[in-house]
Amino acid sequence: MTPTFSDYQVTPPDFESTRATYEDLTRQLHKASDAGTCIGIVNEWDTLLGGIKEWASLTEVRFQQNTRDETIIKAKDHLHETLPRFLDLETSFKKELLESPHRDSLTEHFGPQLFALWECDARSFSPAIKEDMVAESKRASDYTSLVASAEFEFRGKTLTFSGLAKYQDDSDRACRKEAHEVASRWCSEHQASFDSIYDDLVKLRHRMATTLGYPDFVAMAYQRMRRIGYEAEDVVRFRQEVSEHVVPLACEIAGKQQELLGVDRFMYWDTPVHHPDGNPAPRGDHDWMIDQATTMFRKMGHGLDTLFEDMKERCLIDLKARPGKAEGGFCDFFNQFGYPFIFANFNGTRGDVDVFAHEMGHAYQSYQSREQAHSDLVWPTTEACEIHSMGLEFLTWPHMDLFYGDEADRLRRIHLAWSLQFIPYGVTVDHFQHLVYAEPDASPKGRNRMWQTLERQYLPWWDFGPLAYEGSGRLWQMKQHLFNCPFYYIDYTLALTCALQFWQKSRTDRDATMESYARLCRRGGRVPFHELTESAGLKSPFERGCLAEVVADARAFLLG
Ligand code: ZN
Repeated sequence: MTPTFSDYQVTPPDFESTRATYEDLTRQLHKASDAGTCIGIVNEWDTLLGGIKEWASLTEVRFQQNTRDETIIKAKDHLHETLPRFLDLETSFKKELLESPHRDSLTEHFGPQLFALWECDARSFSPAIKEDMVAESKRASDYTSLVASAEFEFRGKTLTFSGLAKYQDDSDRACRKEAHEVASRWCSEHQASFDSIYDDLVKLRHRMATTLGYPDFVAMAYQRMRRIGYEAEDVVRFRQEVSEHVVPLACEIAGKQQELLGVDRFMYWDTPVHHPDGNPAPRGDHDWMIDQATTMFRKMGHGLDTLFEDMKERCLIDLKARPGKAEGGFCDFFNQFGYPFIFANFNGTRGDVDVFAHEMGHAYQSYQSREQAHSDLVWPTTEACEIHSMGLEFLTWPHMDLFYGDEADRLRRIHLAWSLQFIPYGVTVDHFQHLVYAEPDASPKGRNRMWQTLERQYLPWWDFGPLAYEGSGRLWQMKQHLFNCPFYYIDYTLALTCALQFWQKSRTDRDATMESYARLCRRGGRVPFHELTESAGLKSPFERGCLAEVVADARAFLLG
């Protein structure tokens, strides 16, 4: 019988025996006299690493699936308490490899990217920050649990955040506003908890950075995110290009929405809606969507079809929203199980199709590159990862009629408009973190003011009216990345700039673009971001003029 992911279990690794194995591997490495022996040692270590990663990923996924189960919470706490100790062993071994006399031969065999990644890892960890890391993951999980605990009584229904989001997208303006007010009230009631969790996280992260010798957490975060080939200054330049080219178009799109909706004042609760009749929604429930997706992937081929069949058969798809399930969506790859797993919270809106295509893009890429020479090369660094996910969102465009019937064309325009308005938002989230960590002692109110300044700069069409929570500069608290994976956000905007180039190319040659996308997915993380984009014929988002070109095409499509 085919094993299913629902029954999948991994025995937690024993710390003492893992340490003994590491000691043995280190001894072997010191004695090794040729490159072949060293390669064998690295491969053996990779198997050990695979077991630890599998345990960590599975424990985290089980918690995301059910944040209220006591046994699961205990397993997750145990993981967070123990992981930094495993990371200590791992980083020490990476340092051994970085200093190995056989480094050149190893580089020749595995490629330079692996060593560049390990340099970043070595620069962002020391045993001295282990305790702070435990505290950091604990506070980040507190955030996940807090958001997952939200339940809203709305028009006779008990809803989670994702359930409520459906009504924030409703064609009825009063309903949208009411759904926002309900969420806003809950957030206001919990604002002290959000403030306290974030304040702890900022201070913990700042302390870790200074312990490692960095002036602040920003510099450490760039290493921890394994950013290779670009620096904070490049990101500053990218943000300027966004202000110059994307913000004006995003405002024009908002103006067009206002005109279409026929409203005097374009409010925050109007921002997702692009037509008086509301946005198109997929024309069926979860099971129907899975069937439509099966047809879509069969048409698209390139291995997407067989992967999707395998994932369905093995229960690797968890898309239904339910109480106690964490919010958001993600994909993880299970090396030893041999497959990716995708997670989302369907709520019956167009977001379902987007999230689904997005996570399948990650799933497809990780599966296509599962045979890389080292497990650290299966996933590229995050800004490149998101090209695969956001790229697939655009490459599935020709099949949107399967989900939306005769409204597919309207949907495509909305997706593109949303993408253009997302870039300034993504930049806001990233810029905010640069400000927050440069001033770790700022008060919660001070942080809200930083956010508001950026909102005015990048998102001038946002008007919160009576929404007190949002109006006081607290909307950033709804962005889980700020709590769970700091600085993971500019990635979406860089990747989207690349995904939009796939969109441009697919309009003239769909097959060749799909071919080039599949090739990019197969390369995994063998090379850094700029080399991956170059090899797929995409311009780097950091190249001057790149955004301007993409925006010009999008403008012609949307407003031309
Ligand atoms: Zn993603």
